[in-house]
Amino acid sequence: MKFVTIEKIRISIGSASVLDLGTLPQFNNPPTTCYIMTFTNGHCIANCGFCPQARSSKSSMEKLSRVNWPVFYLKDLLTKLKYMSFSKKFERICIQTLNYPENFNDLIEIITQIRTYTNIPISVAIPPLSKEKLKELKIRGVDRVGIALDGASADIFEKIKGKSIGGPYTWEEHLQKLNEALEIFTPGFVSTHIIIGLEETEKQVIELVENLHNLGIIVSLFAFTPIKGTKFEKIPPPIVKSFRKLQLGRFLIYNREKKSNDFAFNLKGEIININISKKELNMIIDDTNAFLTSGCPGCNRPYYTSKPSGPIYNYPRALTEKEKREIFQSVYNYVN
Ligand code: SF4
Repeated sequence: MKFVTIEKIRISIGSASVLDLGTLPQFNNPPTTCYIMTFTNGHCIANCGFCPQARSSKSSMEKLSRVNWPVFYLKDLLTKLKYMSFSKKFERICIQTLNYPENFNDLIEIITQIRTYTNIPISVAIPPLSKEKLKELKIRGVDRVGIALDGASADIFEKIKGKSIGGPYTWEEHLQKLNEALEIFTPGFVSTHIIIGLEETEKQVIELVENLHNLGIIVSLFAFTPIKGTKFEKIPPPIVKSFRKLQLGRFLIYNREKKSNDFAFNLKGEIININISKKELNMIIDDTNAFLTSGCPGCNRPYYTSKPSGPIYNYPRALTEKEKREIFQSVYNYVN
C-alpha cells in the first residue's frame, strides 16, 4: 500500500454498495460509474441555491442532490478498486470536486492514488480552474472534465449561483473556462449540465444545447430536485412532459443533426413542434438512449434527481415497454 496523506473521501451510497464497503443496501439499478466526492470539514465556499453542499445550506453534509455520500477512508476505496472482480468493474470513476481552498491539491492526490491502483477512465466535475491546473489534471490521467453551468441563461446563472445569491461564479467565467478546457481536453471530452426547472424556457435550453454542441461540449440535462435545507427547497421539480421534450431535443441535436430551427416555439418559449415524424419518434423511444442519463460514457447516475418511486426523469437503464408507451403518449402531439 502506498502512503496516503488524504484520509477521507465521500462515496455515493450506490457506488459504495457496489464496492461492498460495509453493510449497505443493495440497489436494483446499481451505478456503472464510481461516484466519489472530495471531503472537506465544512461546506463548499460557493453558494448554489439548489445544492446541499452550499455555504449557507442547512441540509445534511452527506448529500449532493438527493443522494447520500457517506465518508470512507481513501485507502479502503483504493483497495476495493484494485481487487474488484471483472464482472463488477466500473466503467468510469467520476470525482465531484467541492470549492474550498485545498481542493486542487486534494484532487491531484486522489487522482494520483487512483491511477496507481486502476486504469479505469477518470472524469472530474470541477469549479472553474486555471489552464495550468487543467493541464496538470490531464497529465495526471484525467480523461474528461465537467464544469457545470446549471443555469440555461446568464440571468438564471446569476440568480442560482452568481453574486446575487452570494456565490463566487459568473456566467462569463464559466463559459471562458469551458472554452479553455476544450483547448486542453479537446472537443467531446468536456461536459456541462443544465438544470431544468429554474424558470428557463424550453427555447433557451434548446438554443444553449445547440450552441454548446457546436463547440464540442457534451451537455447533460438534470431535473431540478428540491432538497430540504437548501435555498430552493420550496421550488417544485419540472413538469415531466417538458423534460421529455427537452431530452428528445437534446438527443436530436447530438445524434440526428437537428438544429434549433427544427423546433417551433410559442410566445412563452415552449416547444410546440419538433421536425420529426411519429415513426422516427417511435424508433427513438424504442432505442431508449434519448431518455437515459446523459454525460460521460458509462455514466448512469441512478436516482440522482428522481425518486425510485418516480417520476423518473433520467433513466439509469433501458426503458420498459410501459415506460416507452408513456413517453410516446407525452410527446407524440409535438411531432409531425
Ligand atoms: S460549487 Fe458545486 S458543490 Fe459547491 S455549492 Fe455549487 S453545486 Fe454545490
